Amino acid sequence: MTDPLTPVLTKRWLSPESWRLSTYEALEGYTAIKKALSGTPEQLVQLIKDAGLRGRGGAGFPAGVKWSFMPPDVNGRTAKPHYLVINADEGEPGTCKDIPLMMADPHSLIEGCIIASYAMRSHHCFIYVRGEALHCIRRLNAAVREAYGAGYLGKNIVGSGYHLDITVHAGAGAYICGEETALLDSLEGRRGQPRLKPPFPAAAGLYAAPTTVNNVETIASVPYIVNAGSDWFRKMGREKSPGPKIYSISGHVERPGQYEAPLGTTLRQLLELCGGMKDGIPLKFWTPGGSSTPMFTAEHLDIPLDFEGAAEAGSMLGTTAVQVFNETVSVPWAVMKWTQFYEHESCGKCTPCREGTYWLAQILERMVDGRGTESDIDTLLDVCDNILGRSFCALGDGAVSPITSGIKYFRDEFLALCESNKRELVGAQA
Ligand code: NAD
Ligand code: SF4
Repeated sequence: MTDPLTPVLTKRWLSPESWRLSTYEALEGYTAIKKALSGTPEQLVQLIKDAGLRGRGGAGFPAGVKWSFMPPDVNGRTAKPHYLVINADEGEPGTCKDIPLMMADPHSLIEGCIIASYAMRSHHCFIYVRGEALHCIRRLNAAVREAYGAGYLGKNIVGSGYHLDITVHAGAGAYICGEETALLDSLEGRRGQPRLKPPFPAAAGLYAAPTTVNNVETIASVPYIVNAGSDWFRKMGREKSPGPKIYSISGHVERPGQYEAPLGTTLRQLLELCGGMKDGIPLKFWTPGGSSTPMFTAEHLDIPLDFEGAAEAGSMLGTTAVQVFNETVSVPWAVMKWTQFYEHESCGKCTPCREGTYWLAQILERMVDGRGTESDIDTLLDVCDNILGRSFCALGDGAVSPITSGIKYFRDEFLALCESNKRELVGAQA
C-alpha cells in the first residue's frame, strides 16, 4: 500500500479559472523558475536525476538521464541550437491526462518548460499538441501570451539574463506522430513517420540538432521538484518509480475521470477513488496503460501500478490509461476494435506492421462475425509473432498486445466464436 496523496499536479484544477496566470501566481506559480534560474543547468539536471522522475508518456525513461544526454557546451556555447519538444500528442486509446492538465493548469507546463529548457541550455521550446484538441491549443496559446506579457517568456526572464521562446504547434491527427521521431518529422513539415534510432534525438533531433522530447506530465512535474526537493518527491510512490501520477480511468466505473495518486497505487484502490464498478456489475478485464499494454483481469486487482509492478505482472504501465470493462463486454469484440484502430493508424513504413495489422483486423472481423475457424486463433498468434520485435517502431508491438493477452486470458471466448461457426457449417452440410 502506498500512502494517500495530497494533490500535487492537480492541486489547482478545481480553482476558479485555474488556467489564468493570476490564479497560477496566487497558488505558488512561477516561484520555481526564480529558484531554478539562480542555479546552474547542471544542478537542475542532477536534481531531476536525484528525484528519480521517470517519463510519464509511457516508456518511463529517467528524465534527468535523458536531459544529461544533451551534448556539452564548447567554449561556453552550444555547437548547435538545443531544443526542448513537448510531446502533447496524447493519442493512446483511453489516455486522457495531458489534455486535461493543459486545459486546467497550462502555466505549470510552461513553467516546467522554462526550467527544463534552461537545464538543457535551450532557447526554443515547441509544444506539439494533438491536432484534434483545438480547445487545448487555444488555451495553451493564451497562456503562452500571458507568460510573455508577464516577463516569464522572451528576453531576460525574471531578470536572469536567460531567454526562451515557446511555440505551440498543432499536429494533424495522426496517432503515429506521438512517436517522438515521427513527431519531429511532422514538426519539420514532413509526413510523420518514425526515424531510425540511433541516432536518438539528443544527438540529432529537430533540424538535426540536439533535442529532448518529453511528455507534458513529466515537464509539469518539474516546478514542484524544484520547489520542494528530490527527497520530497521520493516520499511518494515506490522506490524505482517515485512521485505522483495522473491515472485516467474510463469505462464501466461509476465516476470515470482523472485521478492523481502515487505511482504504485493498485486498481483496487483506484476503483475506491472512482466509486467502484458501474451498477455493481463485476470487472472482467482492464488495461493498465492504454490498449498498447497487455490487458489484465479481475485476478490482477492488487498489482502495484508502477513501472516495475506492471512489468513483473506481464504488462506495462504505459500511459496509466486504465480502461475498465465489465462482464457484459466480449473480449474478441474489444480486441477487434483496438486492432482496427492500429490498422488505421499504422503509418505503412514497415511491412510487418502495415501488412500484419491489416491481416489481424481481417481475421478478427471474420471471427466476431461468426465466420472464424479454430485455426484462426493460431493464425492470429502467428501473425502477432511476426510483428512483435520485427516492426520499426513501438506501434507494431503495441498492436499485438490486446490480441496476445486477450487470447492468453480469454481463449475460450475466441474458441466459442469458432465453435458456433463450426456448428453452423456442420448443420448446413447435414
Ligand atoms: P523508448 O523506450 O524507445 O524511448 C523512451 C525515451 O528514451 C525516448 O525519448 C528515447 O529517445 C530515449 N532513449 C531511450 N534510449 C536512449 C539512448 N540509448 N540514448 C538516448 N535516448 C534514449 O520508448 P518510445 O518508443 O519513445 O515510447 C514507447 C511508449 O510510448 C510505450 O511504452 C507507450 O506506452 C507510449 N505511448 C504513449 C502514447 C501517448 O499517447 N502518450 C501513445 C502511444 C504510445
Ligand atoms: Fe509505421 Fe507501424 Fe512500422 Fe511503426 S511499426 S514504422 S507505425 S508501419
